[in-house]
Amino acid sequence: MPNRPDEARSEKKPLLLPVDQALAAILALLPQTNTVTKPLDKALGFTLAEDLVAVLTLPPQAVSAMDGYAVRAADVTSLPCKLTRIGESAAGHPWTGKIGAGQAVRVFTGAAIPDGADTIVIQEDVDPVAEQDNVEITVRSAEIAGRYIRPAGLDISAGQVILPAGTLMSARAIGLAIAAGLTQASVRLRPRVGVLSTGDELVSPGELPGPGQIISSNASFLANFVSACGAEAVDLGIARDVPGAMLDAVRRASNLDLFVTTGGASVGTHDHIVSDLGSSGQNALHFWKIAMRPGKPLISGNINGIPHIGLPGNPVSTAVCALVFLRPAIAHMAGGTASSLQFLMPLAVDLDVNDQRQDYIRAQITTKDGIQVIVPAPRQDSSMMSVLATANALIVRPPFDPAKAAGEFVSVIPLPDLG
Ligand code: AMP
Ligand code: MG
Repeated sequence: MPNRPDEARSEKKPLLLPVDQALAAILALLPQTNTVTKPLDKALGFTLAEDLVAVLTLPPQAVSAMDGYAVRAADVTSLPCKLTRIGESAAGHPWTGKIGAGQAVRVFTGAAIPDGADTIVIQEDVDPVAEQDNVEITVRSAEIAGRYIRPAGLDISAGQVILPAGTLMSARAIGLAIAAGLTQASVRLRPRVGVLSTGDELVSPGELPGPGQIISSNASFLANFVSACGAEAVDLGIARDVPGAMLDAVRRASNLDLFVTTGGASVGTHDHIVSDLGSSGQNALHFWKIAMRPGKPLISGNINGIPHIGLPGNPVSTAVCALVFLRPAIAHMAGGTASSLQFLMPLAVDLDVNDQRQDYIRAQITTKDGIQVIVPAPRQDSSMMSVLATANALIVRPPFDPAKAAGEFVSVIPLPDLG
């Protein structure tokens, strides 16, 4: 919980790199992946490298939006009135004649509008003598002309850009492209993200930890998170806390678009990521340490031409930094922009003044007296995976955010279902 009024008072302005600037700097350094043509049924989760242009117009001709009767508006101005049913137009079975004065054609949803008709009366407003041609129908009520007619091209027109480059291909977007007569799309390849865990205390999942050891969970988290973001994770294993171990690991990897490490990012004697980055002319440390909690020791660097993001080792710090930096980084490399769902919600409890670091507070969106409120978890320790795994949102507090009382609004990011 942010409860540091003394710290907040003593720090007048941010000394660490603000989160937004750190993110912009990371994105500016990331190249986009190559393009490839994919059949649309394999394009889910890929980002368009080029605009998609419709081949077909939809609907191809004016169609009825309702079940009813196609009529001339001029014939249904004084109601009730009687018309003669002269034919039927159903979806896939157009009626090819022309409606004259006093005539009506039975229509169904999606059916072509017969020539001469300019309005639809819905079947609920019509009493037919029978469901057949050449019988009288009585129209009791009618809407304004054109009310239930979908004109040709209402949805899309041939030649129109239906989805611009940069669009993430969702099930909805693929459905649209298929309907527009397309079969394939030019998309960007999934970025290949190498994941290296660092720490002498780590054993791999499945191994029994000895004294002082823990199971490395960050690589599993990142493999799933990266894949949910539309990238391919490459597990580079565990590097020990010795100088150069990270450089050896990245040298062994091939074709990485991005290299991510967890741990070893701090200032301890056994943290070697920052010193490794400065150890040869091929490598670069762009920045280190940002105004964020959790996640202060975040690193941006470059190793042998591969962009590097160094995440802190604490699993909650890894996860929050992955959400804030890695997700947009992957979207950017894949040619798009990560959607940022952030909204305001009333607090369920009071919060103290925030200090200079942008705070990401693990929290629960819950309903109180029929209203959704946000409840911060009582303990915010960045090692507590149990708190993160059961949270469904993060409260985002900007640096030096003043104290907030229950009922006041704060910014909230929902945690991704699969993240
Ligand atoms: P470090 O950033 O290396 O100082 O690590 C900070 C904390 O995160 C330590 O308690 C580590 O044991 C823990 N940690 C580091 N890497 C992992 C990992 N891969 N899985 C789980 N915990 C980790
Ligand atoms: Mg460590």
